[in-house]
Amino acid sequence: MQNKIVLFGGTFDPVHSGHLQVADAARRHLNAERVIFIPARRPPHKSEPPAASEQDRMQMLRLALNGWKDFQVSDCEYHRPEPSFTVDTVEEFRRRLPFASLVWLVGADAVKDLPRWHQIDRLMALCTLAVMYRAGYPKPDFTPCKPYFTAEQIRRLQEHIVPVPLLDISATEIRRRLACGQDVEGLLPASVLEYIRSRGLYGCRR
Ligand code: ATP
Repeated sequence: MQNKIVLFGGTFDPVHSGHLQVADAARRHLNAERVIFIPARRPPHKSEPPAASEQDRMQMLRLALNGWKDFQVSDCEYHRPEPSFTVDTVEEFRRRLPFASLVWLVGADAVKDLPRWHQIDRLMALCTLAVMYRAGYPKPDFTPCKPYFTAEQIRRLQEHIVPVPLLDISATEIRRRLACGQDVEGLLPASVLEYIRSRGLYGCRR
């Protein structure tokens, strides 16, 4: 049987407990060997650059993933020019792992943008796109995508909906709370919070 590898891209600004819990649930649901977290330099769909530096976001990921044996982190997007196109990243993993079955994981907030993703047809030929539930967003529904995809592509998207727990956590809310001194207990690993405080990130007082 082919090894199944889940690729989980994002800004991770900062990585939070939502990312860790849904990645774990998705890995189990998809029966995958491991999840590789891939921080973007700057994702094409976000207008603002990340608040924390590439180095800080990577360091927070390393701290967060410590102890999760099925999780890894890759800095592959840091070695390419911005913006970080998913298709280029998947192509790189396809070359590195020619026999693996690759799954690119996204939250339900991505569904509406999928038809505009760079070289989406090529991406869907290189890997399986798996869309997971996300609190605050409707359950993944690809009906609005129908004019842009083939019936076969829609069938594959529908077959790979991942029913993860609904955790109402976002990096935006964590940054907002940190900037005004509000509590973020339980929203991110203690080691990541300690790092944020020690570096004074996101307007957090040292
Ligand atoms: P921001 O609030 O800055 O947009 P975010 O919390 O959405 O950040 P990202 O780094 O942009 O985090 O997310 C990476 C991936 O993780 C995306 O596919 C996103 O949909 C997914 N994701 C993030 N948080 C959750 C969550 N609580 N439940 C399900 N998916 C999530």
